[in-house]
Amino acid sequence: MPEQKRDYYEVLGVAKTASEDELKKAYRKLAKKYHPDLNPGDKDAEAKFKEVNEAYEVLSDKEKRAKYDQFGHAGVDPNFGAGGFNGGGFGGFDMGDIDLGDIFGSFFGGGFGGGSSSRRNNGPMKGETLRASVTISFEEAAFGCEKEITLNRTESCDTCKGTGCAPGTTAEVCPDCHGSGTIRIQRGGGAFTFATTTTCPKCGGKGKIIHQPCKDCGGTGNVRKQRKLTVSIPAGIDNGQAVSLRGQGGAGRNGGPAGDLLISVTVRPHAFFKRDGTSVFLEHPVTFLQATLGAELEIPTIDGKVKWNLPAGTQPGTTFRLRGKGIPSVNGRGRGDQYVTVSVQVPTNLTREQKEALRAYGEAMGEIPPSPADGVKSFFDKRKKKK
Ligand SMILES: [Zn+2]
Ligand SMILES: [Zn+2]
Repeated sequence: MPEQKRDYYEVLGVAKTASEDELKKAYRKLAKKYHPDLNPGDKDAEAKFKEVNEAYEVLSDKEKRAKYDQFGHAGVDPNFGAGGFNGGGFGGFDMGDIDLGDIFGSFFGGGFGGGSSSRRNNGPMKGETLRASVTISFEEAAFGCEKEITLNRTESCDTCKGTGCAPGTTAEVCPDCHGSGTIRIQRGGGAFTFATTTTCPKCGGKGKIIHQPCKDCGGTGNVRKQRKLTVSIPAGIDNGQAVSLRGQGGAGRNGGPAGDLLISVTVRPHAFFKRDGTSVFLEHPVTFLQATLGAELEIPTIDGKVKWNLPAGTQPGTTFRLRGKGIPSVNGRGRGDQYVTVSVQVPTNLTREQKEALRAYGEAMGEIPPSPADGVKSFFDKRKKKK
């Protein structure tokens, strides 16, 4: 508590005769300017923010303002021993009766950072983040697709427009906490007086009391609904990546924005294509003859078959590249390539004629496979000669 307190009107920069509206306007402007979220780590701004809140807390309350006008700080500050004051504490950056949504809505596009749960529970809070998952094929991942998902989520109640009040009725601002949802409790006495801020027991921290709850939502303002959504999965998405849909999660509370929906994507493996990022890999079998003499091949790609001239004398394991036949980049920057590795198939189950043709080839290549029959014969010939 600073020893020298500034005049509350001076803090807000308004005249002593300022109307409620003028006070509110001045307060909003300053609260935005000094809000800790906008001035991270700035102790001066934090102190100013507290000061502004404190000033508004008092001046926005007719009773307190009257006391302040008459007695100054001593009239409203419990530490001055005047008593009877149980206004909001400032530990949790109490925003008085200002709607946090006004400040955050205009500054952050409705997005709330983490830690909102530590905020007062009657302030606007972003709705819960929902998670869903889809499994798609290799091709669907490559070219994008639309998938229908079903999810249960909390939505704002249509009947009461999220207020929780039966149609035609309104909630009463909690008389104990004046809508702040928190009250300050003083403990100890004399020099050892200290105050703690706690959830208002009368309204349970909501800051308002609903006398006639909406029948459809039981006064919560939210209802559970099962929804079918069609989700666009972008071309190029990879296994394990997620699609985030802003505002498709659970309904916000007290005017806060709806949460996001995170859809994690599983891509089924392909029978013969493999993928790494935007590159596609394929092992393509060719015959010994094709590898030796060269051939025009038809290579499967995710776009269909393409022709490729295999050069004569291609060795097994040779990899060639088909430009632009890979996966489209998920952020729309072109496409990857397809890499084709040649595997040479060794013929099996040859007929006698085929074997002889190969032996003839071997002889022509100087590999000399003196035909096994010959070899055996000569071996026996030698043995015979020995005898
Ligand atoms: Zn309702
Ligand atoms: Zn209350």
